[in-house]
Amino acid sequence: MGADQIPFLDLVTPHRQLEEELVSVFRNAIRSAAFVGGPMVETFEREFADFCGARHSVGVANGTDALRFAIMAAGVRPGDTVVTVPNTFIATTEAISQAGARPDFVDIDARSYTLDPNKLRQYLETCCVKDPRSGRTIHTSTGSPVTAVIPVHLYGQMADMDPIVELAQEYGLTIIEDACQAHGAEYFSARDQQWRKAGSMGAAAAFSFYPGKNLGACGEAGAVTTNDETIARRCRMLRDHGQSKKYFHDIEGYNGRLDAIQAGILRVKLRHLAEWNAARRQAARRYDEALSGCDGVEVPFVPEYSRPVYHLYVVRVPNRDQLQIELSQEGISAQLHYPVPLHLQKAYEQLGYREGKFLVTESVTRQILSLPMFPTLTAEQQARVIDAVRVGVSRQQAAV
Ligand SMILES: *Cc1c(COP(=O)(O)O)cnc(C)c1O
Repeated sequence: MGADQIPFLDLVTPHRQLEEELVSVFRNAIRSAAFVGGPMVETFEREFADFCGARHSVGVANGTDALRFAIMAAGVRPGDTVVTVPNTFIATTEAISQAGARPDFVDIDARSYTLDPNKLRQYLETCCVKDPRSGRTIHTSTGSPVTAVIPVHLYGQMADMDPIVELAQEYGLTIIEDACQAHGAEYFSARDQQWRKAGSMGAAAAFSFYPGKNLGACGEAGAVTTNDETIARRCRMLRDHGQSKKYFHDIEGYNGRLDAIQAGILRVKLRHLAEWNAARRQAARRYDEALSGCDGVEVPFVPEYSRPVYHLYVVRVPNRDQLQIELSQEGISAQLHYPVPLHLQKAYEQLGYREGKFLVTESVTRQILSLPMFPTLTAEQQARVIDAVRVGVSRQQAAV
């Protein structure tokens, strides 16, 4: 098959197109021997903060570090409970645990696949009480203070932030956005009467620049964005062994700094991010047009408030596993994000969740399939994917 294969993601073409510029980043780094931190990192931080409409950005080693530092810097304490969704990559909950806190879940919305604000309200009203003395929100059965919520902007679409912000204010929760899949995604905030970018709405937000993300390094990298000077300063300390200045450690921190070479590479690629996101949107539009009328296929739901950047293009079909096999027989790579919800992962057995606890996530998880999606995906490639999906799904419909 070879040339006929349609990859899930093409990482080679964009790097070939930018090869000269990327190589010169490396050459300059070698000549100055500035490998970690330094002016290249600071310039990228400035540019990325501007891109997100946030006041500060702090470059770190990866998205998981970004989440952990954001959680810690925003004031979450060991023993606290931090609420997120079960339909996300495990890094979201790893970061909560690594900060010494306890992850807990609320279910997602059945159409947007992101945190359901009504479920969050229900959780706060029925599983928590307000401590009359401190005013803090306490989880009734564990006695742990619920201090933060992490909405995940999944597949490139922002969570419904306005009602989450309102609940967070009412219950004294800090919002940390997991924006690792949402570089450039936008949300129309009716409260603010304006479009807001991912990374500008929470107390802090975490981004990953893992190579496959909408903005990816040539290796590992991440960033925290925030409008809060104190949180930014704490993140800078946490990433660098808790130093306030060289060899003066105010706290214990981590080695979580951003490489200068990666920062330089990210600067080159950031200049193309808007155009790459536009290409993803165009590809999504072509999929939408061809598949939205197709019986048995549910295309991604885009609420009025959302301008997504399609990190992934995820359809919902009745027999997902069979369709994935049939696509692969046609040389098309489709993938699962994610096959097992976090509350049912072996790593979280000790949390004691059973199947049936988060029904929306569980049913969505069984039916979602991520189709090939990347900026250089061609209309011809998409036509083949669309044909194969149509044929596969209509065969399934006929068999029922
Ligand atoms: C990629 C990703 C992360 C983690 O980022 P790394 O850079 O791989 O550590 C966290 N959350 C979500 C939703 C992600 O997609």
